Amino acid sequence: IHAQVSTKSKLFSGASTKYGGSPNSQVSLVDAALPGMLPVLNKYCIEQAVKTGLALDAHINKRSVFDRKHYFYADLPQGYQISQFHEPIVEKGTLEIDLSDDSTKIININRIHLEQDAGKSFHDQSPTETFIDLNRCGIALMEIVTDPDFRSSEEAGEFLKKLRSILRYLGTCDGDMEKGSLRCDANVSVRKYGDPFGTRCEIKNLNSIKNVMQAIEFEAKRQIEIIEQGDKINQETRLFDAAKGVTRSLRSKESVEDYRYFPDPDLLPVEISDEYIAKIKATLPELPDHKKHRYMDEFKVPHDSAVILSGDKEVASYFEEVAKEVTPKLAANWIAVELFGRLNKTSQTLKNCKVTAKKLVGLIQQIENGIISGKIAKEVFDEMFETGADAEKIIKDKGMEQVSDQSSIEKLIDQILAENQDKVSEYKSGKEKLFGFFVGQVMKASGGKMNPQLVNEVLKSKLNSK
Ligand code: MN
Repeated sequence: IHAQVSTKSKLFSGASTKYGGSPNSQVSLVDAALPGMLPVLNKYCIEQAVKTGLALDAHINKRSVFDRKHYFYADLPQGYQISQFHEPIVEKGTLEIDLSDDSTKIININRIHLEQDAGKSFHDQSPTETFIDLNRCGIALMEIVTDPDFRSSEEAGEFLKKLRSILRYLGTCDGDMEKGSLRCDANVSVRKYGDPFGTRCEIKNLNSIKNVMQAIEFEAKRQIEIIEQGDKINQETRLFDAAKGVTRSLRSKESVEDYRYFPDPDLLPVEISDEYIAKIKATLPELPDHKKHRYMDEFKVPHDSAVILSGDKEVASYFEEVAKEVTPKLAANWIAVELFGRLNKTSQTLKNCKVTAKKLVGLIQQIENGIISGKIAKEVFDEMFETGADAEKIIKDKGMEQVSDQSSIEKLIDQILAENQDKVSEYKSGKEKLFGFFVGQVMKASGGKMNPQLVNEVLKSKLNSK
């Protein structure tokens, strides 16, 4: 995965990294590789890579080295990319993913190294010429490499979701796949269960989680068909055609030797201290997995809701704001089930939702104080979601308050029992299942407004005494 570091200037120059600038307006002499220009390391990028490594429980190398990786691209004026090969800044981390069957799995991070991005070629502006924009040239990327731990496209998709969530929590990459800030190359191979890994193909530059999953599915089927026919897989780089849903051969894969890696003589090795690492560690926010486990342990929130509540920084702070004021488990259910159910149904996000955390607290307090039942609360919430009105006002305007007054509950229950003498006798002769019938009748007659707990108590005492 290539994750663009969120930073104002490039990895080795002071040129701006702002997205969408006019072509070649953000190119320093270093980025254009003019003779004699020397790269100067942007310290902020080192900090962001260390921060990302720490968040993935990885080992931070106190010494790392920038190497030149040689290949010819028209939009790579240096003729090589400055990257890290033998001594990357981060190695050996882990990340926990959440699967649809409520299980979790640990994916191993092999390494994270820093490198420069290349420029962009435009082949579609003229029938005879190619145009080149060097604005992206030299922007800092973190290349995040995993071990071959994925066994399905679902696992790969969940990994990307979790990684993107962590990067956003940290602020080290904005995770915007549409703008190319996060791009994925997927290596796919197939084998019979228990056999060693088969020959892999690399699918380049996948720019959405959906595309990553589709490309993996297609590629695995393609390879199985070839092997079933008795042929062999050629190791190669392939492209995914999102419109057709297929992968196509791009080039045979270079081997490591082809790149002629060697340490860049213009850059000193990067040496950092324990104190430097500790200082960055102290700035780490609470991360999604920690939040997820805390919500489950501390608040007894079920796993699937905890995943929803912790997966996004904004959602987590919304939940925590509500959970501070009311019973956290109740808050979790109202957000993960009721609020997200309505958001998904109307294709909205929390950002443009009319029910603020404060308003949701208002609603849940009405339930906790016995003003309305949970059932009526869903009706109130429907209106809040639509109009953004306060729960208290909706309840008052529509006279939805729950009846908790003992004498009116008793009066109604007496009436229901009188109307159903036959059922009362049946109940008394042992058909205790009928209790639910009586509760239902009382709630129906009161339009769902009787306090259910009181109704239960009064009914029980009346039925058992008569
Ligand atoms: Mn790379």
